[in-house]
Amino acid sequence: MDFEFDEDQNMFRESIREFLEKEISPLVDEQEKKGPMTKEEAIAVFKKFKKVGIALDLESIKELAADPVTIGIMAEEMSRVWPSATAIIGLSFPAALISFASEEMMRRLLPKVKRNELIGCYAITEPEAGSDNRAMQTTAVLDGDEYVVNGSKTWISNGPIADLCMLVCNDENKERIFLLVDKEVSPFDTGELHKLGWRADPTGELFFDDCRVPKENNVMEMVGNFIADPDRLAELTGESDASKYMGIIGGMSPENIIFAFLRSGMALMSAGISQAALDDSIKYVKERAQFGRPIGKFQLIQEMLYNMTVLTESSRLLGYRALTLALSGSPKSRLASSLAKGHACDAAVKVTYDAIQIHGGNGLSDEYPLERYFRDARMLTIPDGTSEIQKLIVGRELLGKGFSAYV
Ligand SMILES: Cc1cc2nc3c(=O)[nH]c(=O)nc-3n(C[C@H](O)[C@H](O)[C@H](O)COP(=O)(O)OP(=O)(O)OC[C@H]3O[C@@H](n4cnc5c(N)ncnc54)[C@H](O)[C@@H]3O)c2cc1C
Repeated sequence: MDFEFDEDQNMFRESIREFLEKEISPLVDEQEKKGPMTKEEAIAVFKKFKKVGIALDLESIKELAADPVTIGIMAEEMSRVWPSATAIIGLSFPAALISFASEEMMRRLLPKVKRNELIGCYAITEPEAGSDNRAMQTTAVLDGDEYVVNGSKTWISNGPIADLCMLVCNDENKERIFLLVDKEVSPFDTGELHKLGWRADPTGELFFDDCRVPKENNVMEMVGNFIADPDRLAELTGESDASKYMGIIGGMSPENIIFAFLRSGMALMSAGISQAALDDSIKYVKERAQFGRPIGKFQLIQEMLYNMTVLTESSRLLGYRALTLALSGSPKSRLASSLAKGHACDAAVKVTYDAIQIHGGNGLSDEYPLERYFRDARMLTIPDGTSEIQKLIVGRELLGKGFSAYV
């Protein structure tokens, strides 16, 4: 176990910090005040990230995933500067599946993925199925070579601008399936929602009304076919032995694998926001003077800095551990990612609250970024399972299925 970043990881952190300061930071205030990005604005941001190797084509993913710490650094550093961008890029992850798709879909969409121009979204939540996603009503009924999809989804990050949706729904046998819905081929309507934080990230509803999706877009079949074909596997991944990948998909349901990644990422996103609030606070307490001395000399201020630091550091450690377990396909990642997400997202709310307190009136002013840190942190405790749900998952993992509080 090594608690220091190595030379390569430090270099990556430095280079991404420099890039974010130069290319991304200047966009944040104006875009957050303006509200949800248009598709063109989102793609322009996404394309900037390509310059530092942050992209969703398989080559870039292979390079980034070679070291889980690199992905963690990316999530933390991006969120330290602009959580809305983390959400747009992170939730576009279904674009990575295009490499496993049909020839026709690959031909049309892979070039866009390679240029960081394809926006994705992941849709499971429905108006009546939030924490209890088993109550989901959206159906996909097979009709010849196509599924006919009916239903609606809500609170979908990137939903209003996505080209590609990874849709979770029930088939005619009431079995849960995952479909890649390509909006150009299978059009669906969307609506926009406005929210407290992550204001530049478009979030909204999706409406499927007899939407026809080719049968070959069933994700599990798509991935299964790919893994079963050693030549294609070797061509794309450099590894022809499918058993290596069975470790990643074995033992956990697809949504638990996805959630383990998303929750670990959310924990590190929280650590990034907390770090931004802590850094600004450390600077401010040295500069701001009251009662004839810098406020940093007051013990109650130092106590707040202590609390903020312990919450930020513990979030980071839990986040990196959860991400490492998720990438190795460990079944322990379910507990680890819920523990990390539950802790780090609640922690970020407390850290950003204290950061506002330390900044006094300035903390509440939109001339300073503190109020945005707080709004962005407040978003974290709801998506990908609320803090309450994370506690119940940890309880179930610790005590066993028979003790599940939500079955
Ligand atoms: C900014 C944002 C982005 C999102 N992005 C996506 C996305 O990209 N894709 C997607 O599919 N969804 C997304 N969601 C939806 C998100 O996953 C749901 O909002 C979340 O799962 C909670 O569901 P709900 O809002 O319906 O709340 P509810 O499930 O109605 O919960 C309401 C309250 O009841 C509590 N509660 C519920 N059940 C229990 C229980 N058994 N025990 C104790 N307390 C309980 C909850 O913790 C919460 O406090 C997003 C949400 C937000 C806010």
